[in-house]
Order: sequence, then structure tokens, then C-alpha cells
Amino acid sequence: MPLQMTPIYLDNAATTRVCEPAQQAAIHAMQEAYGNPSSLHRKGLEAERLVTDAKKEIASVLRCTPEELFFTSGATIANNIALLGVAFATHKSKGNKIVTTTIEHPSVHAPLAMLEDQGYEIVKISPSADGIFDPADFAEAVDERTILVSTMAVNNEIGIILPVEAIGKAVKAKNPAVMFHVDAVQAFLKQPLTLRGSTIDLMSFSGHKIYAPKGIGVLYCKKGVRLTPLFYGGSQNKLFPGTESVPLIAALAASVRTHHPLREQTAEHCAMMRDYLLEQISQLPELTLNSWVHGAPHIVNFSVAGVKSEVMLHFLEEREIYLSSGSACAKGAKSYVLSAMGFPPSRQDTALRVSFSRETTTEQIDALLAGLKEGIAVLQKTTHLR
Ligand code: PMP
Repeated sequence: MPLQMTPIYLDNAATTRVCEPAQQAAIHAMQEAYGNPSSLHRKGLEAERLVTDAKKEIASVLRCTPEELFFTSGATIANNIALLGVAFATHKSKGNKIVTTTIEHPSVHAPLAMLEDQGYEIVKISPSADGIFDPADFAEAVDERTILVSTMAVNNEIGIILPVEAIGKAVKAKNPAVMFHVDAVQAFLKQPLTLRGSTIDLMSFSGHKIYAPKGIGVLYCKKGVRLTPLFYGGSQNKLFPGTESVPLIAALAASVRTHHPLREQTAEHCAMMRDYLLEQISQLPELTLNSWVHGAPHIVNFSVAGVKSEVMLHFLEEREIYLSSGSACAKGAKSYVLSAMGFPPSRQDTALRVSFSRETTTEQIDALLAGLKEGIAVLQKTTHLR
């Protein structure tokens, strides 16, 4: 396989390349509509219009109202504002129990660990060995002292799709006062998602996973849901105050405008890429799959017998092939997700995550497989796993 000159970027669950319309929208906001959206003059109004139009556009895709959307600097902050905001707004006498899963992103686990230190009870639900969550397990964990349930919609490491609506219905049937938060970072514009008639009270997502720049996210907060703000300042954007980043907001709206109509096509494309890769993986005895065909089509996770994840990652990087060992956020730390799945340490230490975009090609996957085969031949001899 000849070495491709362009980078083979297979790490789209970590972040995506900013699409052309998003770049153009950001440049327009920086060069032309550069006013402060709170200024009363025409330049201010021009910038403010970009912010209000962006909200309207995203709200129409999510089927909610613009007033229910708050721009943040990313999903980590949106998750923190939602989880801590619910806990602080609920008097502890009403309850201190929070239900979540074993495979959430650190931006959910870490604020919940902080609450646990403050005396909250955190219950974590596990998936079955084949990556399926049962809504009944959530309902069973919820009682009259439960204030919040938080689940992701799609797991970022192994692509498990959670039945969020069924979970929401089950927990609200048990206790209608429970707040339901969904981390939809790996699902937005990838899975069908609508807030109209939904049980979701709070939902977070991030621009940089959907071809917009880093540093922009959104928190949906259903009308009537009470959150205690974590930050205080000007009256704009009350949950995340401060001058809005108009270029990033405009870029996010442009990306949503571009990619929302392509959602189904992109999902089909990713599924084709996934099936192509899975077929090849099944022929290589050194590779063991850690994800499932019933998972998100843009994420495939597998282990390479006898070669540590990072060693293979750097071997492939030399060939301009980019993927992840676990999740980018873990920065090489052991995967608690694979550990929560009960996979043995030898499988955790050797796991790689490949994640597709609508630009991924079968030629890129062929190059990945050629790189993996070469890496296995060279590295299995030289690395010793204990
Ligand atoms: N949740 C999930 C499921 C994610 O994959 C990520 C990004 N890795 C985040 C939250 C955090 O998003 P951000 O990078 O925008 O803070």
C-alpha cells in the first residue's frame, strides 16, 4: 500500500476538521460583524442578530425554543452547569441521590464525584456484557430521594447507544420530579434526536465534534427547569455570562445548517465504513473487537494482541494515520470504560479507537489495515506486555 501524502484522520470522535461554511461564518463575524452583541449601535445589533439567528436555527433543528438554549465554551462546561446547577438548586432535604452510568465522560463523572464528596449519593448503572443498557435498571435505582438522572446518548469510546427516551420515561414514571440530563456530544447530528415531546430536561453538546471549532458548546435547559448558576456577570446568556463568542456561535450555526440535512447520509456512510473495517478485523486473529455493530456507526474500538495502544498509535502516526487509544480526554490513562465493561487488563492496554467522519474512505481504511498488519509484525516481537 503506497503511503498517502494526506493525513489519514480517523479520530473524529476526539474532534473534527472545521468545515468550510463554519470557517467562513467565523471569518465573517471576526472581520465584518465584529461588534459586541450587547452594544446598542448598529455594529452591536449586527453581531446580536448573528447570535439570535444561530439560536433560532439550532432550536429549530432540536425542536425546542431559542430561549431554552445557552451557549457555553463546550460540553464540559455545559455538563458542569447542568449537573451542579440541578444539585445546588435542589434543597438537600428533597433528596441527595443522583443516578448515572459507569461509562460517562469525565465531564460528568468529575462534577458528580465532587457532589459525592459533599454528601450526595451517586449510583452508577452498568451496561450488559454486550453493551446494552436496560431502562428498568435506571427506574429501579430511582427512588423518592433521587433528584437527577444523567446519561450520555452515545459513548465516546466504545460507541454504545443508550435508549435515552426509554430511560427518561422509565425514571419519570418512578419519580416525576427527577431531572433528566443527557450528554449528547457523540449523538448530535449523528443519531436521530428531537426535544419535542421528549423527557429530556437538560442536554449538552459540543461544536468541535460536528465540524465547528473548539470552544463552543450548547446547554439546552427546558423551560421551567431550575438551575442555580455557577457563574455570575452581565445579563447576557445567564447560565454562562460574559460577552458571547460571536465567531464561534456563527460557525456552530453554519455547521449545523450544513450537516443537519446530511445526518442520515453521514450515518449511512459511517456504517459502510464500519462494516468494511469490521469485515477486515474479523480476518485478523490478532484483533479483538471492543465495540458492537449495534453501536454508533462512527466509532469502532478494538484491541491488538500483544501491542500496547500507545506503541501502535505512534507507529501508525509515523505513517500519517491518526487514531486514539481510548478517548482523547484520558490522555493515555487506562480506560475506565473498558474496565467497566469487565474486559481484562491485556485488552484494555491494547485498545485503539477508530472514529469516522463523512470524509472517511475505504482507501483510508485499507491504509489503516496495512499499517496495523505491519505494526503487528514489527511490534509484537519488540513490545512485552506484562
Ligand atoms: N461528553 C462526551 C461524550 C465527549 O465525547 C466529550 C468530548 N470528548 C465531552 C463531553 C466534552 O466536550 P468538550 O470537549 O466540548 O468539552
